[in-house]
Amino acid sequence: MSILIRGGRVITGTDDYVADVLVEGETVTTIGRGLNADADRVIDAAGKYVLPGCIDPHTHLDMPFGGTVTIDDFESGHTSAAFGGTTCHVDFCIQGQGQTFGEALATWHAKADGKALIDYGFHIAVTDLLAGGTLEELASLPEQGITSYKLFMAYKNVLQVDDQTLFQAMQVAAGSGALVMVHAENGDAIDVLVREALARGETAPIHHALTRPPELEGEATNRAIQLARIAGSPLYVVHVTCKEAVEPIARARALGWYVWGETCTQYFFKSIDDLAKPDFEGAKYVYSPPARDASNHAVLWDAVRTDALSAISTDHCAFLWDGQKTLGADDFTKIPNGGPGLEDRLVMIHHFGVNEGRIGLNRMVDLLATQPAKLFGLYPRKGTIAPGADADIVIFDPAKEHTLSAATHHSKADYNLYEGTSVTGAVDVTMVRGNVIVENGELVAEPGVGQFVKRARFGEALA
Ligand SMILES: [Zn+2]
Repeated sequence: MSILIRGGRVITGTDDYVADVLVEGETVTTIGRGLNADADRVIDAAGKYVLPGCIDPHTHLDMPFGGTVTIDDFESGHTSAAFGGTTCHVDFCIQGQGQTFGEALATWHAKADGKALIDYGFHIAVTDLLAGGTLEELASLPEQGITSYKLFMAYKNVLQVDDQTLFQAMQVAAGSGALVMVHAENGDAIDVLVREALARGETAPIHHALTRPPELEGEATNRAIQLARIAGSPLYVVHVTCKEAVEPIARARALGWYVWGETCTQYFFKSIDDLAKPDFEGAKYVYSPPARDASNHAVLWDAVRTDALSAISTDHCAFLWDGQKTLGADDFTKIPNGGPGLEDRLVMIHHFGVNEGRIGLNRMVDLLATQPAKLFGLYPRKGTIAPGADADIVIFDPAKEHTLSAATHHSKADYNLYEGTSVTGAVDVTMVRGNVIVENGELVAEPGVGQFVKRARFGEALA
């Protein structure tokens, strides 16, 4: 099967030009003007953008958490992703207490088998460094294409690790070629603040945010940076929300240290005021770290524009408001932490970032596709449009208007964080390795077309 994408505006992390793109099989083979190719199919992309498929480095599909399981599995999550122009993601495989990494990975591979519509990889979330053998097993994971280790500095007594575990994992990563990722909040201090709040009878969703102040994110971010510096491992700080955490990352980057940070779509738009909404509506916005004071929105736009932060993910971790979030109706600590958003990232960042003049088109592609590909061992097979790259392509209509709503999104979540928001710019076609997945507002592929990607080690190219 060959597809000729005719006359679109090809936009990568660095380039912007009008050309034809020829896809043969799973790969982009030729790019040029007026290509005289005898393709099986021609798609007219005049007036449209031809973008590399977006990569989401931070998602939680089919994950047990907070006494329940995230509502989107690999099929509904991937459907949602494909409609939003995301063609590859890296999901968190969570090591259960007492489990080997191999056991955890087998569980996660089984979750995705037969359901995948887009390509996917796994980070390993280290929660329990078992006595004997575990460090060796961790060191061996890059051979299976698991080239990033995630550690939680928060969620005490659930996922949190102590600094010794964090530091040892960093030392392993320094030798094995993995990237260390941290959820940076001081879980011990949060635990004290939470117990004090509950003792005062403060049970509403707003107290989720009030017990997790931005200073505790800033403290943990700086601690992780300094520990990684000593261990000699590269570090990626996930879901950065505030000035207190941007500052130590920006400083480390200015010094040339191997430190990167991401933020997520929702942190540009939501604030602590959303958690104060009445009638338990605030629970829709209970995720960690919490939405901050709205003054941080401009801080984050500046950070992504200046490369203090290098990627935008979604942290898609969807729960039903009615039936799952309500587990915490009488106690904010029992509200499952997480929000939806896998489908909305590209259109929201395009509209509010590019259309409103905060970032350029190349930087948008860089943040949503190229940098995630480079940092997570997917580049240059993914994250750009070039001869030899996977034909993961989004044809994007920059003029088409679209209103975001739970009534029309493809996640199983019963709410949308951006309900009623109108944006200009919409996905027309999503293609994964030359397979058209979404077209004319319809899913046109069968589950199973997505594949596991064995990612390259940190800093190495994926051939
Ligand atoms: Zn997460």
